[in-house]
Amino acid sequence: MNQNSTAGARARRGAGHEPKRKRAREDRMTASRTTPKVPAKVYEPTSQEMTALEAQHARRQKEKNAPRMKVEMKGGAASLSFEHEDQGIAGTLLMEAIGTADFEFVDGLLGQLANAGKQGSVVNAKDLNFLLSVVKGIEPRDQMEAMLATQMAAVHSATMTFARRLNHVENIPQQDSAERAFNKLARTFAAQIEALKRYRSAGEQTVRVEHVTVNDGGQAIVGNVTHGGGHPEKARGNLMNTTYPFQKSPRCTATSKRTRKACQAPAVNGWTVCRFHGARGGAPTGKGNGMYRHGLYTQQAAALNSRLSDLQRESRALLRRLNP
Ligand SMILES: [Zn+2]
Repeated sequence: MNQNSTAGARARRGAGHEPKRKRAREDRMTASRTTPKVPAKVYEPTSQEMTALEAQHARRQKEKNAPRMKVEMKGGAASLSFEHEDQGIAGTLLMEAIGTADFEFVDGLLGQLANAGKQGSVVNAKDLNFLLSVVKGIEPRDQMEAMLATQMAAVHSATMTFARRLNHVENIPQQDSAERAFNKLARTFAAQIEALKRYRSAGEQTVRVEHVTVNDGGQAIVGNVTHGGGHPEKARGNLMNTTYPFQKSPRCTATSKRTRKACQAPAVNGWTVCRFHGARGGAPTGKGNGMYRHGLYTQQAAALNSRLSDLQRESRALLRRLNP
């Protein structure tokens, strides 16, 4: 081995002693000899691969097109921008991809994502784009879902950090701590998926009857009925483990004062709590039952206030854009 390495070193030194021009010419000659004149044969995918490629193409068509982010560090502070010629259009595309129409919201969310993807004090564009891709993949339909998606991305990234740490522990306390954190994060992620599922299907549980027309024959035509209940699903496997519809119905979100745990009673239809925790409670609503003392909190006043704050927000955003 020793001999080989000295021989290699001699060969290298020998190559170094050759005149440079000669070496260059030789390089060119070998290059022209090895470069084929005919174009390389294009690989033909198999029919199975073709199907997969077409499926992938269809998937890309469906994907909402949002630009990648670019990070520039200016004097310790990170400045984010889009990899796009028109920043305004890029921002709008991103807003569409994460289900909002509020630029302030996107702005804040991007800042939080950048912080979540930080390593030390440097914002990493690759990590930021990955987190953003996770959020976009969840396809949020409103700001609530976008916030949940952002938290899911952050939790996932932390989970993987602890998975890595768990692989490199050196003693039992380290292992315990990494394992605990990993476990908690993984459970949180599963709970977040559940929450998202519940939030998305919140509107599908109710039975809504819009028009009922009874003809002469006595047959009723009912429009737009979705069934939330019904008989239990046919039991396969374990007969003792049937899940009945009432077990799947949404639960009361209140916390029991006695046990300090979540109330387990089913929520009243159209409410998030059970009747014990205030469903159908409170004063009767409607114009006839209004509290007209000063008119500060009437619906009209509230609508006017919200319009005013919208205007303020818009004008602040505009001012910021005019003189950044
Ligand atoms: Zn309750």
